[in-house]
Amino acid sequence: MPDDAKTWEARAAAHSFYGFTDLPSIRDRGTVVVTHGEGPYVFDTNGRNYLDANSGLWNMVAGFDHKGLAEAAKAQYDRFPGYHAFFGRMSDQTVMLSEKLIEVSPFERGKVFYTNSGSEANDTLVKMLWFLNRAEGNPQRTKILTRKNAYHGVTVVSSSMTGKPYNEVFGLPLPGFLHLTCPHYWREGQAGETEADFTARMARELEDTIAREGADTIAAFVAEPVMGAGGVIPPSEGYFQAIQPILRRHGIPLISDEVICGFGRTGQVWGCDTYGFRPDAIISSKALTAGYFPMGAVILGPTLADRLQNAVEAIEEFPHGFTASGHPVGCAISLKAIEVILNEGLLDNVRALTPRFEAGLARLAENPNIGEWRGRGLMGALEAVKDKDTKTPFDSHLSVSERIANTCTDHGLICRPLGQSIVLCPPFIMTEGQMDEMFEKLETALNQVFAEVA
Ligand SMILES: *Cc1c(COP(=O)(O)O)cnc(C)c1O
Repeated sequence: MPDDAKTWEARAAAHSFYGFTDLPSIRDRGTVVVTHGEGPYVFDTNGRNYLDANSGLWNMVAGFDHKGLAEAAKAQYDRFPGYHAFFGRMSDQTVMLSEKLIEVSPFERGKVFYTNSGSEANDTLVKMLWFLNRAEGNPQRTKILTRKNAYHGVTVVSSSMTGKPYNEVFGLPLPGFLHLTCPHYWREGQAGETEADFTARMARELEDTIAREGADTIAAFVAEPVMGAGGVIPPSEGYFQAIQPILRRHGIPLISDEVICGFGRTGQVWGCDTYGFRPDAIISSKALTAGYFPMGAVILGPTLADRLQNAVEAIEEFPHGFTASGHPVGCAISLKAIEVILNEGLLDNVRALTPRFEAGLARLAENPNIGEWRGRGLMGALEAVKDKDTKTPFDSHLSVSERIANTCTDHGLICRPLGQSIVLCPPFIMTEGQMDEMFEKLETALNQVFAEVA
């Protein structure tokens, strides 16, 4: 074994298969092997620390060393370390979490189904819809509408819902998963089109799609309130107000994928609260456990819960579930995470920090190579452009956003390149001083990279 193989970087590369990782960057720079964290910082095997401006992967909203969450996990491991939710049994923690989720949901009543991830929650939702439509005598009602650039996960079905071109390498999407235009006015708006006209065009496209496909072939419209992994894209003004009535009129359920927005990211508990729409079901994960346990949930509002219940009664069983669905440790952690976010000041801090966050983004967007800043609450993005007036992107071979993110890493800041954007979604526990540090480091990196490429 060569000496080199003893480094953490080499050991990672030798035996771990990377997902969603730019291989040229890894070859040049090696893997950052992370050992622990403090607040919003993570530490690597070389003793360096990084301010993680992405909350891990949008999820570690309470930071990396929250004592209360770790204690809740340990207490539950000591009491009852694992159980399932099959065959008429489930843990007390599962019962309590479902009550809590309905209580904090926008629904007056409803039902919760647990998964291990957001992808599986979307997958489960689609199986629920297919199941109940067949039971109701509408087996043709299978199509799922989402948007280009949307991110809904990586299972075969949730990849098909995702509106990213990279899924072509798998031969996906499956047939019957249709992607409408991304409601990003700055990028998708036509010359001379006002934002209101743009929103009206998005609504017309939905109407036309329903007319073309037939309303009775469409099982649901699934949308993130703010698109996250699409590059933090808030909807155009009035978007959900325009599309919700169309879906209602055609009896098509509107599902809010709140895997990122849920539990405070946009400044309200749910993104649908922030944007003033009323979904038929919510998909949750990520901040659901503050990232301290892999867990997702489908939260059905009253109508879908009743329809599904009726459909199940006809055959007496819903043949679906994961071994770790409703895991007692995950549920105990989630109960604590919800308390920490809603009652111990994290959501308040999101609201308090938002003006400073927006001001920081707006200031950096004065840079001639930043075309747009966008965001809501504590999720934001800066989009790099070669020419601000024409919104012309940099040549893709320059990998501008990867270079910015790599330069940030050199300065001890982790942020994420997405397309030609840099995405920031700091943890809810961030302080003003840490936020200032984040923007200072990002500004240094932007200036350095734009000086090289512009
Ligand atoms: C992350 C994400 C998912 C997928 O969740 P996983 O836990 O990674 O499977 C689904 N929807 C949205 C909006 C997400 O951001």
